Amino acid sequence: MKISFHGACREVTGSCTLVETKKTKFLVDCGMFQGEDFVSSRNFDDFEFKASEIDFVLLTHAHIDHCGRLPKLFKDGFRGKIYCTAATRDLTTLMLTDSAKIIASEALSHGVDPFYSEDDVFFVSKLFKEMPYNEEIIVAGDIRIRLKNSGHILGSSFFEVWAKEGGQEKKMVFSGDLGNSPARIIRDLDIADGADLVFIESTYAGQEHESREEGQKQIRKAIIDCVKNGGTLMIPIFALEKVQEILYELNDLVENKKIPFVPMFLDSPLAIKATEIYKNYEYLYDKESTELIVSGDDLFDFPGLEFTLSAQQSKTINGLKPPKVILAGGGMCMGGRIQYHLKFNLDDENSHVLLVAYQVRGSLGRKLMTGHKSVVVDNSNIPVRAKVSRVNSYSAHADHSALLSWLKKIKNPKPQHVFVVHGEEESNFKFKEDASKKIKTNFIIPEYGQTYEF
Ligand SMILES: [Zn+2]
Repeated sequence: MKISFHGACREVTGSCTLVETKKTKFLVDCGMFQGEDFVSSRNFDDFEFKASEIDFVLLTHAHIDHCGRLPKLFKDGFRGKIYCTAATRDLTTLMLTDSAKIIASEALSHGVDPFYSEDDVFFVSKLFKEMPYNEEIIVAGDIRIRLKNSGHILGSSFFEVWAKEGGQEKKMVFSGDLGNSPARIIRDLDIADGADLVFIESTYAGQEHESREEGQKQIRKAIIDCVKNGGTLMIPIFALEKVQEILYELNDLVENKKIPFVPMFLDSPLAIKATEIYKNYEYLYDKESTELIVSGDDLFDFPGLEFTLSAQQSKTINGLKPPKVILAGGGMCMGGRIQYHLKFNLDDENSHVLLVAYQVRGSLGRKLMTGHKSVVVDNSNIPVRAKVSRVNSYSAHADHSALLSWLKKIKNPKPQHVFVVHGEEESNFKFKEDASKKIKTNFIIPEYGQTYEF
């Protein structure tokens, strides 16, 4: 069996792992590379394998860094099935349709052809094959798979894969992205009982998250200060999970009168649509959220919140006198309506940018987070006078201790090799160094394009 790495090696984006047995070739995820731009130029490169030869894809979840090159795979000849949960199918279709528009506009500005179109998204969405959690299915003569809840976003999964070759069977576990338990809204991540080979993400390796209570405290304080200072509180959000978690928190703060009244806006058509999909999958929610729904509460709506779908509605927000709170996409401030609000408010010392998501190296969000005194937004140089702060309680990723604890529970069999992926190089090595002391196995930090044989 051969395993080769085609993304998310010593970096966080572009997840794509190719597994080849004598009879079958399949990918785990086919994500987009992201960095300075929403769409990194590397996405335009050819795949190092033949798309038409891939038998199927295992898709862990709907984040664009895991699914964003699927339409390109279709365009290049892939016609197999894409196995995932029903929620992942719906959310992925939404995310890919949205990213096709961004790709078209970024490609135009760079004078190149987009690497896929909305038509490719339409056709690739016909290849999804939904499957439930915890059920083993045979997907090829030599391959069985099972999905388990990874507690990261709605519908997210890690894959258990059994591959037979030469009379021997090897079990592999692909973590996808692992959730930050206890999760809000969705259920906490499952454990994998055993594996010969493990592929583990390491986004937050070397870091520990603050508690959820601490996160709510910081949001509450930011809102109270925003009202007191008469400023604009801007919260850049991702359309999946992050925004639903923040709405859940705001719902609690408003309905239990823990904050003064202030107009709030969810200014992201994508987040509004993703929230509607969340509502179709209430059966995947955890006990606490289910109880709130049964009591008649709408988790994602409360007095004072306005959903601004159209561009026209969005523009009226800046005409409104502060204080106000704006939740806008995108989460790393690359593209999305947050850019418009940053351009308008970054030079106002009464305003505040509250970062609640991971900020990839090179992104505008990362620049703000690391204290740049001026930044370029939408081709204009804007001085940063607004306060910028970061809350890391709302990460949808497991922190260092949680990653280690999940890995330690894989015992029957114990992994012989653990590939550390989906993390910046520094995080990869921090994880390897610490985990090697606690778990006796071979830790490998693969490089892009590298192949391993077993
Ligand atoms: Zn993810």
